[in-house]
Formats: sequence, C-alpha cells, structure tokens
Amino acid sequence: MAAPCIFCEIITGKLPGDIVFQNETVTAFRDRYPRAPIHILIVPNKHLESINSVTAADKELMGDLILIARKLATDLGISETGYRLVVNTGPDSGQSVQHLHIHLLGGNKMPLMGG
Ligand code: 5GP
Ligand code: ZN
Repeated sequence: MAAPCIFCEIITGKLPGDIVFQNETVTAFRDRYPRAPIHILIVPNKHLESINSVTAADKELMGDLILIARKLATDLGISETGYRLVVNTGPDSGQSVQHLHIHLLGGNKMPLMGG
C-alpha cells in the first residue's frame, strides 16, 4: 500500500497542521520548516501530485489557489512589501512532497531568483 500523503492527512485533520485557511476545495497551512518570516503552503484538498497532474477540469481550482494566496498575502500584510509564489514540480526543482502546493513566501527581502 502506498505511504499516506502528509498533506492529505493535514487537510483531513489526521495530522496536526497550523491551518490558516480552509474551504471545500483549498487548504492553506504554515510550512513546518519556514524559509521566510511568512511561509505558507496553499494546497488543493484533492490529491494532485504536481502541476503535471493538472487537467483542464482543474482550471477553476488553479485560479482559486492563486486568489487565496493573494488574499492571504493581503491579510498577512505583505501584499505591498511583496511576496513570492513558488510551485516546485518534479525532481530537478526539489519537489519533496508529492501533493501539489504553492509556497507563499514573504516578510523580508528575498534574493533575486537565479542570482
Ligand atoms: P517542496 O520542497 O515539495 O516544494 O515543499 C514541501 C514543503 O513542505 C517544504 O517547504 C517542507 O518544509 C514542508 N513540509 C514537509 N513536511 C511537512 C509537514 O509535515 N508539515 C508542514 N506543515 N510542512 C511540511
Ligand atoms: Zn495528498
């Protein structure tokens, strides 16, 4: 049997998670190992492994993930100072949890990407 997905378990409450937002389709919780003063993961409630698993049927869901990320950035006071949304996909990106997630990072000045 496949190992349980930690993000599915946080979404369903089987594992503790610092959830900051949840509705019928999307959950957002604080990253356990934050890389910025604000580091939140925004995830679909249904298990999708990565962007590679997304289909046209998920268009609305993908839009919701972005809108919720923006709402959280606003609520947490970083919409004007700025923030970064990151979606790692596959081995070369370093994706370590195989449940699609958007990182919302902010609260300090970040190095330029690729710099
Ligand atoms: P990835 O490297 O796949 O893009 O991001 C996975 C993220 O999940 C990492 O930033 C890591 O710190 C976070 N993470 C791993 N395990 C847990 C966990 O059990 N709980 C929470 N809240 N975050 C986790
Ligand atoms: Zn999952």
